[in-house]
Amino acid sequence: MPMSPTLQTPTSNQSPPPPFRPVEAAEQRLSGRVVVVSPHLDDAVMSLGATIAQCVRAGTDVVVLTVFAYIPSSEARAGPWDTSCGYSTEGQAARARREEDRRACLVLGAKRRWLDFGAEPYERRGSQEEIWSAVDAETRGADAVLLPGYPLTHPDHSELSELLLRKGLSCGAVALYAEQPYRFWQRKTPLVSSIAPPLQDLIEGSLTWSRVLTDSEYRRIKRRAVQSYRSQLRHLGLGPFGLRRMIWHEAAQGGEALAWLPRRAEG
Ligand SMILES: [Zn+2]
Repeated sequence: MPMSPTLQTPTSNQSPPPPFRPVEAAEQRLSGRVVVVSPHLDDAVMSLGATIAQCVRAGTDVVVLTVFAYIPSSEARAGPWDTSCGYSTEGQAARARREEDRRACLVLGAKRRWLDFGAEPYERRGSQEEIWSAVDAETRGADAVLLPGYPLTHPDHSELSELLLRKGLSCGAVALYAEQPYRFWQRKTPLVSSIAPPLQDLIEGSLTWSRVLTDSEYRRIKRRAVQSYRSQLRHLGLGPFGLRRMIWHEAAQGGEALAWLPRRAEG
């Protein structure tokens, strides 16, 4: 029976992948109740699907919390991305994409929560204070909360992580995760101490990226879960061949990537 994911830290930035060493303390942090904050309806599963599946199998209570999950009742005309995916309104995209996310989380064995805030380019339907307050309520008391952290090139991702780090969350520990498929598209992985530009003023001291070493079984589960996002895959360059390559590339780089932040007082 596989145990909790083993976190490993690279000792060099060179390519091909460097040797790794285990970080035992980090293993403890993915137990209990873990909330993975997903800006959109697919980010958490694409980025951390194997980790989530392995944690669930080890008994961790994992919640995928999507913040900009649209609102099913919206009649707003679909934005360019959702139009290209075949949707005509925000509400239609919300209903279909939430169903995709429901299936993906079911494959992983994770719980899921959706907040009704709008993604770019739709109306947000909430101030920054309201978004923070809603996320804080969902993550309060969690043993760990995982936030998007690299490369943070999508404005929704950077805005959300900046907001949550600036105001703080009432939870045990916070980690950043490397975002897929951005990491795959750029064909690079965060270096040991990489800090995405939007967070450079918010993170004091250094950051250390670790890799979550997962069994191939969990990479297969991740692939099945990601396949649930049918309306998104082709547009993301993740047809059957592309998705296999993304997961292979990720494994070759040592696995899904996390960087734990120093504990801080409640914000
Ligand atoms: Zn996203």
